[in-house]
Amino acid sequence: MFDEFDREVFEAGQHIFEYGDEGDCAYLIEEGIVEVFILEQGRERRIKLIGKGELFGEVSLLDRQPRTATVRVIEKAVLVPIPRKLVDGLLEKSDPILRHLLLVILERFREKVNDALESSTKAELSPEHSSLRRTAKGEATQKIAIAHGMLRALSHDEFHLHYQPICDLADGQTVGFEALLRWHHPTEGVIQPKDFLWIAEQTGFIREIGMWALDRACRDWPELRKCTNLDAPFISVNLSANQLNDEMLVENIKAIIEKHKMNPTELKLELTETAMVASPEIALNIMNRLIKLGCGIALDDYGAGHSGLGQLQRYPISTVKIDAAFINSIDDSVQSQEIVRSTLALARSLGMKVVAEGIERKDIRVILLGMGCEIGQGWLFGYPSSLQELQLNKTER
Ligand code: C2E
Ligand code: CA
Ligand code: CA
Repeated sequence: MFDEFDREVFEAGQHIFEYGDEGDCAYLIEEGIVEVFILEQGRERRIKLIGKGELFGEVSLLDRQPRTATVRVIEKAVLVPIPRKLVDGLLEKSDPILRHLLLVILERFREKVNDALESSTKAELSPEHSSLRRTAKGEATQKIAIAHGMLRALSHDEFHLHYQPICDLADGQTVGFEALLRWHHPTEGVIQPKDFLWIAEQTGFIREIGMWALDRACRDWPELRKCTNLDAPFISVNLSANQLNDEMLVENIKAIIEKHKMNPTELKLELTETAMVASPEIALNIMNRLIKLGCGIALDDYGAGHSGLGQLQRYPISTVKIDAAFINSIDDSVQSQEIVRSTLALARSLGMKVVAEGIERKDIRVILLGMGCEIGQGWLFGYPSSLQELQLNKTER
């Protein structure tokens, strides 16, 4: 089974490693039997016998501490070593909370082993372990603090929505708004989505937060829609990839729409290509059901991914939002111009609307208009603002 690995062969009676040895690998037993034991008052005490298919030496491999027992071969053994460099990479990439928990468990295990030993043979934890543990603890604590804070944030009303206008590039009229999440942390101040949404994604909290955002946007909509002079404006709400795996997603969205007596045609849900490509069939099914409810679907951050619009044709997308990176560089990058031009052409032929994201300057607005782009969003037209701020602007105008 492990043809690609080097094996090590040990004869009966041989020690594979001894208590206190440095340990930079674990072993998988391909053939044979080994005995794990410790010395108690000079006498051997067997911990266990292990055989084919089992693993030993994993503790030192993971926590970089000396071996906690001696292992001797009982029946000729063929072993596949699992080197540290293989596991180190995996550990580094693993979730800091899980890494921290693993190190805590290993430390407790070593304490137990130490308790059973005489004082002269007790092993001290090395500085390397402490530093490893400190790093994992630091990262884990930060992550746990944010995750824990997010739980509290929902129940303590610390999340807020800001709304950014989406405008007609020709006359500057607001045609819709995008709802963007902000966390008003009691001690840290306002935290931006980039600093907490990734943890919300990983932990799954995004499902609750996402539903909260949709509910709040629909609740605010009757007031927000008065901030534009148009008859049929829309509100766009972001959906994350993780939310697509929520079996109740469409039912929950439907319930929120009904609760707020929202006109579903005025609601757009923004999804990125990553979310669609991660599980295409699930995404397609959800999108079709959302369309059936009457909502629109916007493809967010277009151009940042790998798919061309042609590949995304089978999805019922009504709006394509071109990623800000291409818009900001449109004046000096031929490639960006090409992406915008081809997106506009293809979207037109597919009957999709195009929104240019991140417009900060007048000259970019002019270039986009010249290319036939009709709708845009960006600081030039308005920053994301609270409903109250938008209402004040309206009365001031
Ligand atoms: P996004 O969906 O691409 O949202 C647009 C981002 O660009 C927003 O960042 C907005 O504040 C920013 N922006 C708008 N105009 C300009 C401009 O002219 N220049 C520049 N440099 N930036 C501009 P924000 O609010 O920090 O949100 C970041 C991302 O967080 C959003 O990117 C979206 O992916 C995510 N997000 C925000 N709210 C939610 C939410 O309720 N649910 C989910 N799932 N994701 C959200
Ligand atoms: Ca968006
Ligand atoms: Ca975007």
